[in-house]
Amino acid sequence: MTASSLVTVDINGDILRDNHGAGINKAGFTIHSAVHAARPDVHCVLHTHTVAGVAISSMEEGILPLNQWSLQFHNRLAFHDYEGIALDLGERERLVADLGDRNVMVLRNHGLLTCGRTVGEAFALMFNMERACRAQLAIMSSGGRQIRIAEELAEKTARQYEGWDTHHTGNKPDPQWEAFQRLAIKHYPDLVE
Ligand SMILES: [Zn+2]
Repeated sequence: MTASSLVTVDINGDILRDNHGAGINKAGFTIHSAVHAARPDVHCVLHTHTVAGVAISSMEEGILPLNQWSLQFHNRLAFHDYEGIALDLGERERLVADLGDRNVMVLRNHGLLTCGRTVGEAFALMFNMERACRAQLAIMSSGGRQIRIAEELAEKTARQYEGWDTHHTGNKPDPQWEAFQRLAIKHYPDLVE
């Protein structure tokens, strides 16, 4: 997949550009259009169905305060209950009400969703949440006794993450996103357009 193979749509789902005639995934449109319409501060919405993300989304515990990666999301997750494949446009209202002004959401029994002011911000949130999910699954499946991080310390660390996040506003460079792009170009030089 390259940039020119992506399908571009407007907020009504009308196709603006579709170089391969692939059309769009209607459930994907329901989810992404809901967030874009409701949150003008958000310029990128990512939604994944990875094994680790789906597994965590299917557990009552959600993401537990077990490690530093997970603390970025402590007390900052939104949750949306499963309603079947998201083909009902009426779900958009409930989805954005559940999201509120948060940027990270667990779609229960379904997967993960992150929002960013930039592509780099949405990607970094998803990358870190994915790692938190994988680490939690590894901890749970090991059967080892868990060391839960206390509420006060977990909240303090979540605030530290927020204080750190200064390069997604304005036009400041985003070193992490630039590094991911360099890595992608190195691995897939033929796909650079
Ligand atoms: Zn989905």
